[in-house]
Amino acid sequence: MRIFEEMESEVRGYVRSFPTIFDTAHGSEMFDEQGKRYLDFFAGAGTLNYGHNNPLITDALIAHLQRGGIVHGLDKATVTKRAFLTKLRDTILAPRNLHYKVQFTGPTGTNAVETAMKLARLVKRRSNIISFTNGYHGLTLGSLAVTGNYDYKDETYGSRSNTAFMPYDGFLGPDVDTIDYMRRFLEDGSSGVDLPAAVILETVQGEGGINVASVEWLKKLESLCREFDILMIVDDIQVGNGRTGTFFSFERAGIFPDMVTLSKSIGGGLPMALLLMRSELDQWQPGEHTGTFRGNNLAFVAATEALAYWESDDLSQAVLRNGELIQKELQRIADKYPELDARVRGLGMVWGIELPQSGVAGAASAECFERGLLVETAGDRDQVLKLLPSLLIEEELLREGLGIIDDALGVLVE
Ligand code: PMP
Repeated sequence: MRIFEEMESEVRGYVRSFPTIFDTAHGSEMFDEQGKRYLDFFAGAGTLNYGHNNPLITDALIAHLQRGGIVHGLDKATVTKRAFLTKLRDTILAPRNLHYKVQFTGPTGTNAVETAMKLARLVKRRSNIISFTNGYHGLTLGSLAVTGNYDYKDETYGSRSNTAFMPYDGFLGPDVDTIDYMRRFLEDGSSGVDLPAAVILETVQGEGGINVASVEWLKKLESLCREFDILMIVDDIQVGNGRTGTFFSFERAGIFPDMVTLSKSIGGGLPMALLLMRSELDQWQPGEHTGTFRGNNLAFVAATEALAYWESDDLSQAVLRNGELIQKELQRIADKYPELDARVRGLGMVWGIELPQSGVAGAASAECFERGLLVETAGDRDQVLKLLPSLLIEEELLREGLGIIDDALGVLVE
């Protein structure tokens, strides 16, 4: 670890929470430089839905490089860009009757969020943007302003203006309808909440601790947005790309957001972030919101290959099957250790086991690491163990990893 301690800024967290030096990986397994094997239930926080070094994707990348395909071309039209856009339209958008335009926004998630915020303000000529408690949208100044965890903020960043927070579904307890609450704020001129250009939300909060918004809440929010002429932005960066069992996480609610941010697994493991927008919202002037690495051709190759998984519903079925297994096993583990007061929640293949006592989830993650399982914590107090394995994980490896969580919690209650 010395080289990292000497040279890399302290700011990176994972280098310390997973203290080893990783070298190779295949599917759901990673190997460090000593050859120790780890099961990966973290999958790059949802970046590796198709696993590490998926052979279909690596073969396509190798073939592209060997034939001298364009690697970087700024935003010029290329054959690989066309192939990606065609595949996205034919495989994902058209079958869902979605007619979004696509804007490539940069290599990483926050770039898509910033683009959505800027476009909403441009289109509506209003600057306020509403987001929700415990939401996570990135840490650059615009996206930080709509990220709901106070730990990331600092007065001096000056990024809190023109945004407001509302309680997410369930945040005020099971009996409070937080959409009615929001309506009161919008209707009351003295509330200090200006009519927003947009709301931004995750339908399942990932970093916020696997908080699942109900279908009813999502539908009510969509209606409220329509009524008040507010754009609805769904941030599907972590739980899109099939994670919840459908390609977009909002499909389960039958809603149609005005904009959708995608990143992480959309690039098939390579850096890509994009914004989907209703076509009438594309009011940019040419050159108004561009940048250098927006639509990297290697990412187009990987992404096109990854989207082929959605040509049939086999992967959706696998996600639902594996999800049931995860839920059943986590519930069994929670019941086995009642002293931990554990609660299980999630859907598809995004699951959390909340361990409310201070420090327990972090200690469990460290125990899992020792036993060869990578699993991260989430939540406002890091109180949730978050499971995000590759969607393609073999059942045997899934069971093995869940067994490690069982053993790790067993050690903690001893
Ligand atoms: N939105 C969501 C829902 C995310 O989970 C993340 C990253 N965890 C981001 C935005 C920001 O993405 P990035 O870290 O790539 O900037």
